[in-house]
Amino acid sequence: MKESIKNPQIIMEERKAVKLFLWSFYIVYFSFDILTYILKMDKIGSPEDGLGFWIHALLIVILSIAIWTMKMGNPYLVKYIYIYSFLLIDFINTLIIYLGNTKQYTSGHIVEVLFILFSPIFVSKRYFWTVNLGMAGKYIVLGLILHDFQVLITIIVYTILSGIAYVVLIRFYSYINSLTSVHDELRKKEKLAVIGQMAAAIGHEIRNPLSSLKGFTQLQQERYPNTNDFYPIMIQEIDRINSIVNDLMYIGKPRSIKLEKANIEEIIAYTLSIIQQQAEIQGITVETIMAGPLPPIDCDSKQLKQVFLNLIKNAIEAMPDGGSIKVNVKVVEKQKMYISIQDEGCGIKDENILNLGEPFFTTKEDGTGLGLMVTNQIVKEHLGELNIQSEPERGTSVEVILPIIHR
Ligand code: ADP
Ligand code: MG
Repeated sequence: MKESIKNPQIIMEERKAVKLFLWSFYIVYFSFDILTYILKMDKIGSPEDGLGFWIHALLIVILSIAIWTMKMGNPYLVKYIYIYSFLLIDFINTLIIYLGNTKQYTSGHIVEVLFILFSPIFVSKRYFWTVNLGMAGKYIVLGLILHDFQVLITIIVYTILSGIAYVVLIRFYSYINSLTSVHDELRKKEKLAVIGQMAAAIGHEIRNPLSSLKGFTQLQQERYPNTNDFYPIMIQEIDRINSIVNDLMYIGKPRSIKLEKANIEEIIAYTLSIIQQQAEIQGITVETIMAGPLPPIDCDSKQLKQVFLNLIKNAIEAMPDGGSIKVNVKVVEKQKMYISIQDEGCGIKDENILNLGEPFFTTKEDGTGLGLMVTNQIVKEHLGELNIQSEPERGTSVEVILPIIHR
């Protein structure tokens, strides 16, 4: 929760909790003392004993320190000031009263119950353990010094109370965590929507001039077939810009898909034919294993070609020194098409796994970090699933699972 500490709203919450705690602390403490004194239930704890009125004076001093600390913008310290000074004062006070005489030690104080029951409201595990272990520790030490084993009863009662407090604390934690994750999700979506709108607008503007540029380059090439070898490269690069622009337009804004029955074998064969040359140059072999006759599936074949193109391209790019790629296709659970693409490449480091599919996340020098995002979206639109398993230095396996009949 370190980061959220700076959030003004969270600081406000802490202030509220501190105020509530302070009021309860002083009301409970003073009324308990006054009541004990009036009723004379017990001479012990009355002002004549131990530190006597000094305790009350100290409590007022601590209150001023607490208020000052809050004013200085450190409300987080107040609860610690209280628990530590309380433990210290109570410890000294008890020793003064009981050490060296035969008075029967009565352990336990109403304010300690207050400390324990209030420990979850600050939603801090460290504070919770400070209070509960501090309290138990104090009684263990006092019990040993005063040779009094009745403290055990107090410790047991406090442990039960701490258990209850712990359950409340854990509930607070999980509630806050789910709130935070919903909030993060929302923020991510908003950010994507903004980037998406921008990307779509810019992409749209770039595509038109790009297509006329390509048209004229092709025209030039036809006109002067023998003059220049650069035309194919120019056209290829224009195509590359075009595909990046297309990917950009995908951010946060899925395109509608046109479902038709299509053959997965054909889609994969087409993809491989495009990528074959690059694979050969890098000394990569691609092996395809299709299990039996495969039924046609409901899909947008153009989009699925994009999916496999992106995935196989990633596999090739992960193996600069060659290797083999296995493409496996089979029907699972009778109604799902399972396609896995396995490479023997560099793999993905654990710390990067969570970033896969984030727009612009790339570890490549000339990568765009859009491939997996687009792939993910297309698979999602097909109501499918994308799973990535990877072992650094061993290789990566990407599974695409698509429903055969789209509902
Ligand atoms: P790009 O290929 O432009 O980097 P992608 O979205 O396709 O963008 O991939 C994002 C990142 O995921 C890559 O930069 C790479 O680090 C990692 N990655 C994806 N597929 C593989 C793979 N098969 N092997 C190793 N790393 C991969
Ligand atoms: Mg890629």
